[in-house]
Amino acid sequence: MDLSDSKSEARLRHDLQSWLGQNLTPEWRAQYQALDGAGQIDLLRQWQKAMHEAGFVARAWPKEYGGQDGSLNEQLIIFEELAKADAPPDVFRIGVRIIAPMLMALARPEQKDFFLPRMADGTFLWSQGFSEPGAGSDLVSLRTRAVAVDDGYVVNGQKVWNTLGQHADYCLLLARTDPEAKPHKGLSAFAVKLDSPGIRINPLRQINGRRDFNEIFFDDVKLDASALVGELNGGWGVAMTMLGFERRGVAVLGFACRQHYARLLDLAETVRLRQTGAPAIEHPGLRAKLVALGIQARIAVLNNYRFAAMVPRGGTPGPEAPMQKLHSTELNKKMHDFAFEIMKAADLSEQSSRDLFDYWGEEYITTIGMTIAGGTAQIQRTIIGERALGLPR
Ligand SMILES: Cc1cc2nc3c(=O)[nH]c(=O)nc-3n(C[C@H](O)[C@H](O)[C@H](O)COP(=O)(O)OP(=O)(O)OC[C@H]3O[C@@H](n4cnc5c(N)ncnc54)[C@H](O)[C@@H]3O)c2cc1C
Repeated sequence: MDLSDSKSEARLRHDLQSWLGQNLTPEWRAQYQALDGAGQIDLLRQWQKAMHEAGFVARAWPKEYGGQDGSLNEQLIIFEELAKADAPPDVFRIGVRIIAPMLMALARPEQKDFFLPRMADGTFLWSQGFSEPGAGSDLVSLRTRAVAVDDGYVVNGQKVWNTLGQHADYCLLLARTDPEAKPHKGLSAFAVKLDSPGIRINPLRQINGRRDFNEIFFDDVKLDASALVGELNGGWGVAMTMLGFERRGVAVLGFACRQHYARLLDLAETVRLRQTGAPAIEHPGLRAKLVALGIQARIAVLNNYRFAAMVPRGGTPGPEAPMQKLHSTELNKKMHDFAFEIMKAADLSEQSSRDLFDYWGEEYITTIGMTIAGGTAQIQRTIIGERALGLPR
């Protein structure tokens, strides 16, 4: 595989770099930092709109759905440059990277026409309503019910760990529509407007004080028949398609690995060890670990390109998605563990110790979450064992 940019790819990279230079200014970052959660989401809606108008969102989607008819490679170049520029969080990722490709594959034409362009341009923020208090890894045992009535469905139940639901416009809900069928044949997927009567959203406070996740309670929520996505009782196929894209999406963390590695190198070069007084990078043991992590970070980036090349355009990801997710999320966690190993051995003033902990501690929590989101590392190992290696169940 030739990883050098073609002429048009080099132009795209250059255009995005200069667009980011003009738009992602220190003033923009300061404005973002000063806002509360809801204010940040409003600013990120404007950011998404501006990025979309400039042609940097949904690059590989068909033009009719708000894309650019570009290639997956172009999309990856965009992700790579955004990671390098330390771009703001992509709160539209659940809609654009996970739900939209599923809609392209499985939704009715009028659903694609209505939702897709509005997902790309920042009009609709989406969230994913799969997990329940008793159904995470064992998703198929979920209990939220959608009962068919004359002109639609009535939903009762509870979801949890719903990312960004308190700010979202829609939720892709997985609910049980046939309790008599085998568990995975009795589920259906629905596009649910989150301001519908009967929905209560309760943000959960995390250990770092942030509120990124929610419980969502459904109490006799009425859905139109048109809210059904895919076939009635075909929800398991919808969920598996989305999880494939989610695992691949999470693995864009391969680019984040490289950014974390650059910061890790910077840390090892700048802090001095208590025992020797020399920079941490000069310690042979630490240096050997840095080299090993550097090689893995490079592999993570190459995997992003390799696996993207294996996924046919518009197709659904196979076992390469869990492989990529497992590698990059575990690597990110190892790099953060190593940052703490360096900090523990370093001679730090109280202030620099606090500053370093603020940065690496916050990132560490996110890193652990990513090994769980979209299916835990253990579940990814099982999928890889069965589907890629052909091991017996
Ligand atoms: C950052 C983040 C964002 C999330 N966002 C969303 C969201 O937007 N929408 C949503 O619906 N959900 C979301 N989730 C929830 C996520 O999908 C679940 O946390 C995940 O599927 C695990 O389920 P659980 O938490 O119930 O853990 P459990 O399934 O109870 O697992 C507990 C432990 O047991 C292990 N385990 C369970 N079953 C097996 C098995 N068969 N073999 C081996 N080990 C096993 C797991 O690996 C884990 O270590 C998010 C989670 C995180 C961390």
